[in-house]
Amino acid sequence: MAERFLRRAAPCRIVRKLCAKAVLEHGLIEKGDRILVACSGGKDSTVLAWALATLKQELRLPYELAALHISTDFCACCKKGVLAARLAEWGIPFNDIDVPVIGRLKPGRRMNCYWCSTQRRTELLRYAIAGGFNKIALGHHLDDIIETFFMNLLGKGELRAMPLLLRYQKYPVTLIRPLGGIEERQIISCADELDILKAACTCPFGLRSKRRVIRERIASLTGGSGAEKRRILRALGSGERNLLEE
Ligand code: SF4
Repeated sequence: MAERFLRRAAPCRIVRKLCAKAVLEHGLIEKGDRILVACSGGKDSTVLAWALATLKQELRLPYELAALHISTDFCACCKKGVLAARLAEWGIPFNDIDVPVIGRLKPGRRMNCYWCSTQRRTELLRYAIAGGFNKIALGHHLDDIIETFFMNLLGKGELRAMPLLLRYQKYPVTLIRPLGGIEERQIISCADELDILKAACTCPFGLRSKRRVIRERIASLTGGSGAEKRRILRALGSGERNLLEE
C-alpha cells in the first residue's frame, strides 16, 4: 500500500482498504462464516463492526455478523443504547451480557488488566460457541499489536504478539483481528468521519496500565511513523503463528 495513498485518502476509505487487505491476504474471512464482533462500545470495535458490515457488501462474501457487548461490574462507560442503534443501522444484531469481573476475584487478589481480559475472553468464547459462531472478530489495531509484542519482550522476555488469525486447538472458534494493519490514529479519524460516539474509558485500573508506558517508548522508537510500525508488524510475521501465538 503506497504511503502517498495513505496520506491523501479519506479516513474511512483507508480503514476499509486496509481491512480488506488484511482479510484477503490472511484469509481471515471465508464463505459461510458466522462472525461474532466483540463490541466494547469504544471506537476500535465500533469501527471494526462498520468495516466488516461494509466489506460484506463490497467483497460479496456471504458471511453473517452479530455483535456482543460484555458489561463488567466496574466499568460503565459504554452507552449501549447508542451502540445498539449504530449497529442496527449497519444490519448487525446486538446482544449484551454481564460479567462480574471483580466479583470473581478470590480474597486477597488484586484486580488487574490480565484478570479482566481473561474473564471477558472466557465469556466471549462461551457465548460464541453456544451461539454457533465459528469466528470472533476483535478490534485490536496495529498499535495494540506492537505494544503487546514489546510488553511481552521487555516484561516477560518472550517473543510473542497477537496474531491476525488464531485457530484454537481446544475450541471450534477462530479469533480474527481485521484491523491489525491499521494505526490507531487512522481508526480515530474514521470514527470521527462516522460520527461514532467517543466513549472515553473510565476504568480506574487502566490508568495504571503498563501499556501506557510502553506506548510512549514505542513512540520515541518509531517517531510515530506508520511505515516503521508496519515494518515491525511485517517482521513479526503478521498472520503467521511463529512469533505471534497467544
Ligand atoms: S483497562 Fe480496565 S477494562 Fe480494560 S482490561 Fe484493564 S481492567 Fe479491564
